[in-house]
Amino acid sequence: MGKARRIAIVGAGLGGLATAIALRRQGFEVQVYEQAPELGEFGAGINISPNSVKFFDAIDLTAKLHAVASEPVGLTWRDWGADEISYSLPFGDFEKRYGAKYYVVHRSDLHRLLSEAVPEASIQLGKRCTRVETRNGTAGLSFEDGAGAEADVVVGCDGIRSAVRACVFGGEGPHYAGTMCWRALAPSDALPKDYHDRYVNQWSGDGGFVVSYYVRQGKFINFVAVRQQPGWTESSWSVPSNVDEMLAAFPNAGAKLRTMMAAATSCSKWGQFTGEHAPQWTKDRVTLLGDSAHAMLATFGQGANMAFEDAYVLARWLNASADDPDAALAGYEAARKPRATRVQQLSRTEVHFKKIHSDWDRLRREFAFVTRHGSTTGGVYRWIFGYDPVAQWRGS
Ligand SMILES: Cc1cc2nc3c(=O)[nH]c(=O)nc-3n(C[C@H](O)[C@H](O)[C@H](O)COP(=O)(O)OP(=O)(O)OC[C@H]3O[C@@H](n4cnc5c(N)ncnc54)[C@H](O)[C@@H]3O)c2cc1C
Repeated sequence: MGKARRIAIVGAGLGGLATAIALRRQGFEVQVYEQAPELGEFGAGINISPNSVKFFDAIDLTAKLHAVASEPVGLTWRDWGADEISYSLPFGDFEKRYGAKYYVVHRSDLHRLLSEAVPEASIQLGKRCTRVETRNGTAGLSFEDGAGAEADVVVGCDGIRSAVRACVFGGEGPHYAGTMCWRALAPSDALPKDYHDRYVNQWSGDGGFVVSYYVRQGKFINFVAVRQQPGWTESSWSVPSNVDEMLAAFPNAGAKLRTMMAAATSCSKWGQFTGEHAPQWTKDRVTLLGDSAHAMLATFGQGANMAFEDAYVLARWLNASADDPDAALAGYEAARKPRATRVQQLSRTEVHFKKIHSDWDRLRREFAFVTRHGSTTGGVYRWIFGYDPVAQWRGS
C-alpha cells in the first residue's frame, strides 16, 4: 500500500483551514478547494473554548488568537423580561484548571488568522466540488467548472450541506430545527456602562433566548437572538434583516435587552438547520470533518471547536499510519465520532433547556443548574472544556 501524502480538502471554512494547517505541519502536501470566489466568513462572534485552544497551541497560533480575541470571565443567565442576573458561573482560572483560556472572537478575525497560516498556492478559489470517487487507492474530485483533481485522501470540510457527504453517503440533507436567529453587532460605546461586562450573557424567555458577548476587544457586543418559528421559508438560510424586524420578533424582551438590540448596526437572520447523526464518516479514501460530519445547534458553541479537535486528530492519525491510509481514517473516525456525536446530541437537548415557556420550565432549569450545570468545573462543562486532543493523542 502506498504512502498517503497528497491530501485534498473540500471547503476553506474554519474546519478546512484548520485541517490544512494541521496536515501541513505533519509534512503533507495539501490542496484546499473552496467554492467561493474569495475567502471570508459570515456571522459575527464565536466562542473558542479551552478544548480547542489546545489545538491553537499545537499549531503555534494561540498568541495570534489572543491578540484578536476577548477573554470572558464567566457565564450569566437571566430572564429576558428582567434586568437582574439570575445565575452567574465565573470561569475562574481556566488556564490553571484546563491548561488553556476561553476566548470569544469575531469570526472574520479568526478565519483571517487561519487563512494567513496556509500558503496562497495551497488554496484554490471558485472550485465547487460536485463529485468525489475512489479509484485504485486514490481519490478523484470533479468541479463545477469542469476541472478535476486527484489526491491520496479527500477530506470533506464543506459544511452542513456537504456535497462530499451527499456524493459518498447519499442520505438526507440538513433539516430546519424549528428555530431561527438574528446575528448582530452593536458598537459598545453606543451603550451605557452597565452593558460593559466581560461575561457571556444569556437571556431566556418565552420561546427563545439571546446570547451576547464582547468581540474585537470590547469594541462591539455580538449577540445571537434565537426564537422558535414553525418554518423557514426564505430562499437562502441567511438573509439581511434590520433592527425593527428583530425588535418586533421579541415583543416580551425587557428594556435592557431591547436597548441592546436597538443599538445593532448590522444584523442578519438565519434559519437554524441541523444535520442528522451521520452513521459513517469514512468510505475508502474519503472522510468528513466538522459540520459535514456532525453539524450541531449552536447552543453549546462547540461546532467549530469540534472541527478544530477533529483537525488535530486526523492529522496525527494520517501521519502515524501514512503507509496505511485506510487504517488512519478508521482510527480518526473511531477516535472522534463518539465525542462529536455526544456534543451534537447535547446541543439538541440544550436548546429546550435555554427556552422558558412557563414556571415549570423555570423550575426545571433551576434543577438542571444544581445537578448538571452547577459549575464550569464539573459536569458537562468539565467534560467539554477539559478535553485535550493533544494529550489524548499522546496517551493513545
Ligand atoms: C449562530 C451560530 C453561532 C455559532 N457559534 C459557535 C461558537 O460560539 N463556537 C463554535 O465552536 N461554533 C459555533 N457555531 C458553529 C460553527 O460556526 C460551525 O460549526 C463551523 O463554522 C463549521 O465549520 P466547517 O468548516 O465545518 O463548515 P463551514 O463553516 O460551513 O465551511 C464550509 C466551507 O466549505 C465551502 N463549500 C461548501 N460546499 C462546497 C463545495 N461543494 N465545494 C467547495 N467548497 C464548498 C463553503 O463555501 C465554506 O467555505 C455557531 C453556528 C451558528 C449558526
